[in-house]
Amino acid sequence: MAYIEVRKTVLTEEKKKEYQNACPFAAIKMDEQGALYIDDNCRLCKLCLKFGPETFFLVEQGAELGASLDIKDLKTEKGDGILVFIELEDKKIHPVGLQLLSKAQELIEVRKQEIHAIILGSELEDYLAQINSYPAEKIVYYSHPDLKVFNLEAYTEIICSYVNEFRPAVLLFGATPLGRHLAPAVATRLKTGLTADCTALDLNPENELIQTRPAFGGNIMAEIKTPVARPQIATVRPNIFKAQNIETSQSEQENSNKPPSLEAKNLNLADFVKIDFEVYGENKHILTEKGKSDQLDLTQADKIVALGRGIKKQEDLKIAEKLAQLLGAQLAFSRPLVEAGWGSSIRQVGLSGRSVAPKLLITLGVSGSVQFLAGIKNAEFVISVNLDEKADIMKRADLALVGDLYEVLPELIEQLVQKKSEVGNDA
Ligand SMILES: Cc1cc2nc3c(=O)[nH]c(=O)nc-3n(C[C@H](O)[C@H](O)[C@H](O)COP(=O)(O)OP(=O)(O)OC[C@H]3O[C@@H](n4cnc5c(N)ncnc54)[C@H](O)[C@@H]3O)c2cc1C
Repeated sequence: MAYIEVRKTVLTEEKKKEYQNACPFAAIKMDEQGALYIDDNCRLCKLCLKFGPETFFLVEQGAELGASLDIKDLKTEKGDGILVFIELEDKKIHPVGLQLLSKAQELIEVRKQEIHAIILGSELEDYLAQINSYPAEKIVYYSHPDLKVFNLEAYTEIICSYVNEFRPAVLLFGATPLGRHLAPAVATRLKTGLTADCTALDLNPENELIQTRPAFGGNIMAEIKTPVARPQIATVRPNIFKAQNIETSQSEQENSNKPPSLEAKNLNLADFVKIDFEVYGENKHILTEKGKSDQLDLTQADKIVALGRGIKKQEDLKIAEKLAQLLGAQLAFSRPLVEAGWGSSIRQVGLSGRSVAPKLLITLGVSGSVQFLAGIKNAEFVISVNLDEKADIMKRADLALVGDLYEVLPELIEQLVQKKSEVGNDA
């Protein structure tokens, strides 16, 4: 069964009239709140998908699941298309899925092909609306109460089943705990290769995915291809790529006076496919929400105070902790401090640590080595304190403070404490 849906986008009155007049069956109606909807007159001519791809999309139901995989075919065919796995974590979409959809759009500049997103869970409607503003021709969702928790067998079976149907050239997962668990199972089932923890992706004209990742302890960056088997599967660390929704990229294009390309508009054409399924296997592997939220996830922190070798003694960390506490920020470290045992490895930022994307990053006594900078590419606003105005971190910083952190830090803390007490007194 298929039908047309109207996306909740803001439309001018003129545009609404234009759409209504363009439907040959007068099936586009307006409700009392002025929102467009499709009524029973719709004959599924799909003309609206052409004249209003940002507004109208096709919903399909009833595809078959569990068809046995034709692995031999998959291995030998070259295939087209990119499939991105969208992960849910703590009832939210993990940003890495949206980052991968945005990257996929960049990749298909080389060779036009479809991007599909796949999401598994229960009560997914709200998530679909969010994914919808990222580039994907089709969002495939599998909704079932038993998918509320991660089940390796079921997730593997479902993803492989959709791969069998879509036959993509590329399949991308976030390198999250769940993605790292699931991607190898899918790759094994499909008898194809997997490159884990990629830090860069490229597609060559032959549609071969160039998967870059650190190798030999991070001393070299290896470029890996999966020349024969398909799909080419990669996991990618969060925050390596920027999530760019369609509206943002369009307004950026307008700002740079370039008209939005036709391809970008077409990419907004999304179908939704809903498939019922039977859960496969009894053995559930559950990543509990509680278990996850207890752990620090630096990649999702909004504010970070990162410390480098400018901190001279371990006991001096206390003063930085005070700053972090006042700001509600997470503490992070450059590698030498982690190696010295001053901080946990889950708090290391950089190439061999975490890639972070906070709104605010304060670095104290960090020089800005290439390896450190690789981990802060997507930090929004960076304030750096360093004695050396020529340190590389100062070029990356939005606000570079040349000075001794031992002088700057107490002053900063004092001012913050004062500000807080003023706010407290006013309240
Ligand atoms: C394969 C590989 C992977 C790596 N991965 C990572 C990684 O993931 N993360 C990482 O961080 N590094 C990584 N490194 C190490 C990296 O090359 C650098 O050695 C490291 O980032 C330097 O850390 P730092 O900035 O704290 O120290 P330094 O480079 O020693 O810089 C200290 C800075 O503090 C400033 N300073 C000193 N005293 C003060 C003061 N009182 N007030 C203000 N400023 C002061 C100095 O001017 C200097 O700029 C990796 C290296 C390799 C080879």
